[in-house]
Amino acid sequence: MDHGYVHVYTGDGKGKTTAAVGLSVRAAGAGLRVFFGQFMKNGDTGELEALHLLGDRITVEQFGTGSELSAIDPAADARAARAGLDRARAVLFDGRCDVMVLDEANVADSLDYFEPGALLELVRERPENVELVLTGRGAGEEVLAAADLVTEMRAVKHYFNDGVVARRGIEF
Ligand code: ATP
Ligand code: MG
Repeated sequence: MDHGYVHVYTGDGKGKTTAAVGLSVRAAGAGLRVFFGQFMKNGDTGELEALHLLGDRITVEQFGTGSELSAIDPAADARAARAGLDRARAVLFDGRCDVMVLDEANVADSLDYFEPGALLELVRERPENVELVLTGRGAGEEVLAAADLVTEMRAVKHYFNDGVVARRGIEF
């Protein structure tokens, strides 16, 4: 790509991670190399299995220790997140992908899992030919300001509020 842009999918409505998965599938279909990193998550998610089916056009790695929004050991989760951001930075600056998704990076950032300013620095200093997508509720103001595209998913209704917890294949 000649020029990549920075996307942020945030807000409390459903669709942030699935939008990033959809974009990744589209990019892979068009022959772009995708790196899909998931913070806060560890274990089989439908998207992990599905993206693996796309072969070497997509690399998926998880940088979490528990399920999102409910880390069992926050200190371990923070360490895993920092290591994940280091890994993402290495992939990014080695030119090994055209599209990089950092799923739930906004959540990890809002929990202060990363070094202060580290996510913002990655956004600002990324190679300009990489499309970078950050997902997760609670995106920071400076990250929002640095992005080229911000979509806020707004929960007009969400069945979570009726007690429907995450379901395999639909939410993970
Ligand atoms: P999807 O992966 O379906 O695209 P998303 O990425 O937009 O959704 P997240 O913010 O990552 O959604 O939400 C993760 C999980 O949080 C959801 O699976 C849902 O079960 C749960 N959830 C939804 N609303 C709330 C809420 N108000 N408080 C806490 N957890 C919620
Ligand atoms: Mg999500």
